[in-house]
Amino acid sequence: MSKDVSSPGAGLHRETLAVRLAVERSQYGENSEALYLTSGYVQPSAEASARRFAGEEDGYTYGRSGNPTVTSFEQRLAAMEGAEACMATASGMAAVMLMCFSLLKAGDHVIISQSMFGSTLKLIGSEFGRFGVETSVVPQTDLAAWRAAIRPTTRLLFAETPTNPLGEVCDIQALAEMAHNANALLAVDNCFATPALQRPIALGADIVMHSGTKYLDGQGRVMAGALCASEAMVREKFLPVQKNSGMVLSPFNAWVVLKGLETLDLRMRAQSAQTLTLAQWLESHPAVGRVYYPGLPSHPQHELAMRQMGGIGGAVLSFDVKADNPEQARRRAFHVLDALRVLSLCTNLGDTKTLCTHPASTSHGKLSEAQRQAAGIGQGLIRVAVGLEHLDDIRADLDRGFSSL
Ligand SMILES: *Cc1c(COP(=O)(O)O)cnc(C)c1O
Repeated sequence: MSKDVSSPGAGLHRETLAVRLAVERSQYGENSEALYLTSGYVQPSAEASARRFAGEEDGYTYGRSGNPTVTSFEQRLAAMEGAEACMATASGMAAVMLMCFSLLKAGDHVIISQSMFGSTLKLIGSEFGRFGVETSVVPQTDLAAWRAAIRPTTRLLFAETPTNPLGEVCDIQALAEMAHNANALLAVDNCFATPALQRPIALGADIVMHSGTKYLDGQGRVMAGALCASEAMVREKFLPVQKNSGMVLSPFNAWVVLKGLETLDLRMRAQSAQTLTLAQWLESHPAVGRVYYPGLPSHPQHELAMRQMGGIGGAVLSFDVKADNPEQARRRAFHVLDALRVLSLCTNLGDTKTLCTHPASTSHGKLSEAQRQAAGIGQGLIRVAVGLEHLDDIRADLDRGFSSL
């Protein structure tokens, strides 16, 4: 939880805040933000300690309720998202957990898209289902289906855009209006676009959820997560649950992600530019069927994506390797992946290293073939989270597999 969220950096640009916003320097004048590895804090007096524990005075008391390095990360991310406040969590899934724990009770109803991150679907649909939270799962891009799913008990609409691995986009502004007309909240998983490309709060969303593990770190080093929202929601809803449940971000991980935020804008722009060129190349490649990338005019929500994401499609694309049947498609996709020498076969994204995955046998491996078909995840589908290698090397690495099919 951020201390004095109101003040630091008021009036400065987002780019400046991404590099500068943090808690005050220590007495040593360090230029790079300090890493405070401590679980406890020495109190200035018994009276001050009492006031801090009573919530009457800002000040750190114990690692589960706050840490200055974590505060720096929270302040910086909140500023980048255009949110009043932020609460960091141990991972992206811990952020989803904290949000649901803080806002929902038995009998409440949530609407999520069928294309959401697999663990999000399971956590909300199955685990929270055990405690009486009801969930409707709707098609990502079908606004009428979202609207039709609303009930008097609907508390939360939770959208992820663009989605993994097909880059399906939903209209944040329309969903926000829909949620607010129903007295519900809209939360957006902004993992794929990041605040460099898309700022859901400005479009009406109430909560932005992050997996800091991905682009915020940006170099595949640590797990992290966050919720950005109003000061009141963070202070009154998230903080009490976080203090008692302990899904806190470690100071070390916070420091790594804090430094990652400094280059987020540059990385997202550079990696997205490479992704667009790679997508265009793949679209004209004879070994490739369909290419899924919001930055391509062939993408069904291209216009919406460009409007919502500042004209940039992000750094993840997927494509189908051409084949006559699912078995051959799987064999061919595996061949292309096994022929890689530079790019990594790695189920993650948001790294400076290009990562390739086969969704049908990994992230979507537990679905039945029928569910996979419904989700549009074919056996020939390969996802590429494009990094910062030279584009010629990325193309050559993929082409090694294509040309030997
Ligand atoms: C990775 C991911 C998550 C989960 O984040 P973790 O940090 O792995 O817990 C949630 N949503 C999306 C879109 C992701 O890619």
